[in-house]
Amino acid sequence: MTRYADFHRRSITDREAFWAEQAALVDWHRPFDQVCDYSRPPMARWFAGGRLNLCHNAVDRHLAARADQNALIWVSTETGQERVYSFRELHAEVQRMAAILLGLGVRQGDRVLIYMPMIPEAAFAMLACARLGAIHSVVFGGFASGSLANRIDDAAPRVIVSADAGSRGGKVIPYKPLLDEAIRLATHKPSRVLMVDRGLAPAPAVAGRDEDYATQRAAHLDEAVPCVWVEATHPSYTLYTSGTTGKPKGVQRDTGGYAVALAASMKHIYQGNAGETYFSTSDIGWVVGHSYIVYGPLIAGMATLMYEGLPVRPDPGIWWQLVEKYKVTVMFTAPTAVRVLKKHDASYLHAHDLSSLRALFLAGEPLDEPTAQWIAGAIGKPVIDNYWQTETGWPILSIANGVEAAPSKFGSPGMAMYGYDVKLLDENTGAELTGANQKGVIAIEGPLPPGCMQTVWRDDARFVNTYWKTVPGRLIYSTFDWGVRDEDGYYYILGRTDDVINVAGHRLGTREIEEAIARHDAVAEAAVVGVADAVKGQVAVAFVVLKDPKHVGAASAAELEADIMKTVDQHLGSLARPARVRFVTALPKTRSGKLLRRAIQAVCERRDPGDLTTMEDPAALQQIRDHLSDA
Ligand code: ATP
Ligand code: MG
Repeated sequence: MTRYADFHRRSITDREAFWAEQAALVDWHRPFDQVCDYSRPPMARWFAGGRLNLCHNAVDRHLAARADQNALIWVSTETGQERVYSFRELHAEVQRMAAILLGLGVRQGDRVLIYMPMIPEAAFAMLACARLGAIHSVVFGGFASGSLANRIDDAAPRVIVSADAGSRGGKVIPYKPLLDEAIRLATHKPSRVLMVDRGLAPAPAVAGRDEDYATQRAAHLDEAVPCVWVEATHPSYTLYTSGTTGKPKGVQRDTGGYAVALAASMKHIYQGNAGETYFSTSDIGWVVGHSYIVYGPLIAGMATLMYEGLPVRPDPGIWWQLVEKYKVTVMFTAPTAVRVLKKHDASYLHAHDLSSLRALFLAGEPLDEPTAQWIAGAIGKPVIDNYWQTETGWPILSIANGVEAAPSKFGSPGMAMYGYDVKLLDENTGAELTGANQKGVIAIEGPLPPGCMQTVWRDDARFVNTYWKTVPGRLIYSTFDWGVRDEDGYYYILGRTDDVINVAGHRLGTREIEEAIARHDAVAEAAVVGVADAVKGQVAVAFVVLKDPKHVGAASAAELEADIMKTVDQHLGSLARPARVRFVTALPKTRSGKLLRRAIQAVCERRDPGDLTTMEDPAALQQIRDHLSDA
């Protein structure tokens, strides 16, 4: 086995040879001329001159060896449906979808906006776009009309693929009225709309514009649509970031670098093998859904399990029942989902045979130690955190057990992954911090490795100006996250750079304080923000969700507040002690489950909370407003 440190070093110092080797994990129609063209930094052109197709790599190339093995397993606990597609069947469905899109005028380079619930047709549409060289732009299903309209205008799609409705917790969410309104609001008008009718909600067709998927599918049942061999640098898709810190950014991804990066990550990080089943609980509307529901597992020849529903419905054992039934070997979820499960009894997990499962991966937000410990104990398998961004498409920090087995450390998403030349920079001077245990901004020296964003869609200047900083003679990409690295090279994320609190001249990460609060037995979850204070500059204010809401009644809120402050004193010191602890039943989050600290902070400072289009539950922010008027 290779030592990981050598593997990583080689990926940086012998970049060309390293990635040329990884490139052998995918099929090329035409070999590339150059591994990395970095002649116009920070723009990197990976595998320039090569031609390939993402859909071919995800589907067609597996037909020879595994046509009858599972490729896509779909389970909906919302509608009580379950469907399994072999690679042969998936191939047929994707060709049908591609034939439909072709018929609607979609050609290479055209955009197709996909506004869909978690149904197989959404994956067919993504793969069909890839097949045609069309650029998909998936918008999380259920986004309000305004957000959708903005994305329609940005992507300017020729066609939109959608469905009558999604469903969440048994409640039908009609999409068609949202879509019709969004198209009305948008300046750009798509010429055609392809509608999948699930029979959940009325979806009257607009004559001359809307087409019915079932009718179209029947008309294209046996059509063969060949893969379009595109340049490695041809954009495969655009996707927005979650909008946690402000206006979402339209990330543009290439084709060749992405295929190689995903194939390599499946081998070195996730250790998924062809013929096995991968279960990511994310949504196709997020980057995890793109990389690890659709493309990554399929490129690796694995079956991917796509799940529509909640983790606790019909009961909190549902995911583990699916792990047992489909012999899932690799699972991927988010800390927020684990926290939901944690509110229930672990016996729901123990009722199922999880012996097939090798590891559970988590990403998307900080994984606090109590949550990590709880899930690791409950499943009895390694729990591996991984840190990345929509921008990067695959992990920046994790553990590459496929290269060399390494222990996970609770609270740390792991070490720099191969290809990423990760640096810690002093926030003020931009100087590199080389010692252990120094706090700084997590940054990546250019070029970004394969699979990362090429640019901001149609806005190179925004890409350069937003992310890249010149540090004497070099260009460095900022993640806008704050972190620290220990002696063993493990990083700890301390929060976003704009979430750093400055209390009487001491810099504290919100995440550190939240972690300390979460150690209190009564606490399920906490959000900490820095609020302007006349004396101290800023003070930390905490909003806490209790495991048992009745708890506040038992102990008085004041007693519990004092007790939580004491916990923070013990773990971090009194400097980090929040000035106020307030109890709420829910925290404001994005639809992808990330804490909207900037919105909480704005409300606390009586400012306008800004762009809230990606917020899940407005009532949660209202609770915070109510606390202020009480105070
Ligand atoms: P926006 O950039 O629009 O404000 P966003 O940053 O929330 O939104 P994403 O790309 O979905 O959009 O999220 C990436 C961010 O999520 C990271 O920069 C980091 O702050 C956080 N994150 C992701 N994974 C982890 C992890 N394992 N541990 C800690 N934080 C994580
Ligand atoms: Mg971000």
